[in-house]
Amino acid sequence: MEDCIFCKIISGEIPSYKIYEDDFVFAFLDINPTSLGHTLVVPKKHNKDVFDIEEEYLKRTILISKKIAKKMKEVLDCDGVNVYNNSGASAGQIIFHFHIHVIPRKNGDMVDFKPIKVSEDDLRLICDKLKIEE
Ligand code: 5GP
Ligand code: ZN
Repeated sequence: MEDCIFCKIISGEIPSYKIYEDDFVFAFLDINPTSLGHTLVVPKKHNKDVFDIEEEYLKRTILISKKIAKKMKEVLDCDGVNVYNNSGASAGQIIFHFHIHVIPRKNGDMVDFKPIKVSEDDLRLICDKLKIEE
């Protein structure tokens, strides 16, 4: 869809730190992460929110979210993950292309869901660790 940042990321028009891609789903690092490794999992077809998304795309997107959560546990040694979606401006949605946030968590990490400071090097390093080849 024209003028959708996430559609442009999927097409490669806007660069991203890609974690995973198949025919239906694309996953990449959030540019303003809540914790290091914060990943966004998006269906390749433009659907706005949870009300709008086609079931097949929803299934595939949540299954890849699980795959990424497992990889986070494996390579980042996190204790848990937040897996969530914001649908609608009232719920805090900013980008109106459906996406699932997957956020690695450690016991006592004090994450407050505000962006943390990260460098390009941090993102590159974490991307290399989390990357899943299809
Ligand atoms: P929402 O509030 O819509 O659920 O979350 C949108 C997320 O997209 C935010 O966490 C924000 O940091 C992230 N985001 C916005 N623009 C970009 C971008 O151009 N690249 C990347 N990688 N993430 C983005
Ligand atoms: Zn889109």
